[in-house]
Amino acid sequence: MTAEQSKLEQQLAKLHHQYMERLQADIPVLASQVGTLVTLSAQSDWRSVVLALKHKFHTLAGSAGTFGLPQLGKLAKNLELQLKDWLEDESVPDLGKINSFMTTFQQVQYAHQSGHQVMNLTSAKLDLLHEQKATIYVLEDDEEIANHLTLTLATFGYQLQSYRRIAELDQALKTKLPDALILDISLPDEEQTGLDYIAEFQQSLSEALPVLVLTSHDSFEHHLQAVRIGAQGYFVKPLNTTALEARLQRLLAVRRREAFRVLIVDDDQLLAEHYALVLQGAGLRAEILLDPSQIYDGLSRFRPDVILLDVLMPGCSGPELAQLIRLQDEWLSVPIIYLSSETDGERQLAALVKGGDDFLTKPITDTALIVAVFARAQRARQLADMMTKDSLTGLLQHARVKERLSHELQRSERTGEPLSVVMLDIDHFKKVNDNYGHLTGDQVISSLASLLKQQLRKTDIIGRYGGEEFLLILPDCNQQQAFGLVEQLRQSFASLPFSFDYQNFHCTFSAGICQATATDQTDQVIDQADKALYAAKHAGRNQTQLYQPPA
Ligand code: GH3
Ligand code: MG
Ligand code: MG
Repeated sequence: MTAEQSKLEQQLAKLHHQYMERLQADIPVLASQVGTLVTLSAQSDWRSVVLALKHKFHTLAGSAGTFGLPQLGKLAKNLELQLKDWLEDESVPDLGKINSFMTTFQQVQYAHQSGHQVMNLTSAKLDLLHEQKATIYVLEDDEEIANHLTLTLATFGYQLQSYRRIAELDQALKTKLPDALILDISLPDEEQTGLDYIAEFQQSLSEALPVLVLTSHDSFEHHLQAVRIGAQGYFVKPLNTTALEARLQRLLAVRRREAFRVLIVDDDQLLAEHYALVLQGAGLRAEILLDPSQIYDGLSRFRPDVILLDVLMPGCSGPELAQLIRLQDEWLSVPIIYLSSETDGERQLAALVKGGDDFLTKPITDTALIVAVFARAQRARQLADMMTKDSLTGLLQHARVKERLSHELQRSERTGEPLSVVMLDIDHFKKVNDNYGHLTGDQVISSLASLLKQQLRKTDIIGRYGGEEFLLILPDCNQQQAFGLVEQLRQSFASLPFSFDYQNFHCTFSAGICQATATDQTDQVIDQADKALYAAKHAGRNQTQLYQPPA
């Protein structure tokens, strides 16, 4: 068991313990309130007492199952329904049931001192939490191509292991599997082709290893054979490194993806914390909002992929809050999942009409919660990406990156953390288009985008500001740190070899940096970074300049 797992289990156990303590305090109060019910019907305010009690049983019905007390939860649900009937047709409930509820509670409570079980799924996904360099094995007997690949992909931040012989590769694969394998088909010194070898090897794996084929054969038969061994890309020599890298990035996108963010809105803090821990254990990021009135702030700070919404909350109900969220265009497409102990189908539907997308019934198992949230988040992220990202580079579009800058400026003002903004522009890009064609120009743009994605932190924000112009937003980074970072990027980019028709060429960029000050507006910051970029161009290009305020 890893350290994270045991920490998670400890935290879950602690929550479980707190919940049992809360129950021990709550149940006698509930029981005595229930005990006075019989005498109530004569009083005029009996409705409000029964209503309050019904809410308490509703909450209990939702949380008990999650904390490992399903029978208790069922009994509470039963009582809630009886109280509901009482309210609707004024028939006094069966008080015998209430006694049996108390007895069961005592038994269940003693049986459950053992703590909470963490699901296997939770621990399996913990790997996603760690950012690692992807490891790629290459089988290629041509030394020049192997070296070129190693150099280029290392610049992009991959870890490369290059092998000349099948036997060497075989040994490496049996020691540790890479994230992907790049494979040459014909190997003159071997009896087998690369494809024959890997076809056999794939059989021994439970999940196929992603393979990219790199070859001089362009026939239908070779393509077909590649597909049959599970190849995810086929590249005919001369090698187009940009296309290969783009394919690799897509292939490994799931590993690198920024964790899904889930906003949990629930007035029951223990339950909310339990959900948050379970989701965090599965590699998602979760934040809790206990106070519905803070919803807009929570949304713009956290930008959730999914909202988990309790239905019954004091002050503002889940469906009301859903309507509130949908009032703003910006949050129209974020999926809202209601999480409630409401089992009445019609009422579930009524809640969905008010702007929700799905209904999960409490109690819910950890696995079911993870799967439901994960699936929704994934789909929502795909759709959001399509709407907000540039198709050539996968980076944020002009308007979106400006929106994000405005958020980050507010955040930096609140937290006092420095924020740097970089404007970056490829040098003499017109000549690239003129000399090598627009398609090659596109490759250069998309390579620079890949490089930025690979080398910057996940918290940095990258936008394609214009054709060959990029805007970087670097939170918690002062201008000296930004300068060091951009200089590294600049050198990496300048060393990348591009090719057109067997001619190799290189490109450079210039960059301007501005560290935002507390009162800066979005346009001001961009303008200052732009001025610094202009200074870099003016001073000869292929360099980075800091913004110099006028004396
Ligand atoms: P400088 O060093 O001063 O930045 O020179 P430059 O030639 O890079 O500057 P300029 O901004 O004048 O030219 C940018 C060119 O980039 C013009 C435009 O045709 C080209 N461009 C813009 N978007 C794309 C694109 O998506 N693909 C390709 N291939 N070219 C593009
Ligand atoms: Mg340019
Ligand atoms: Mg330009």
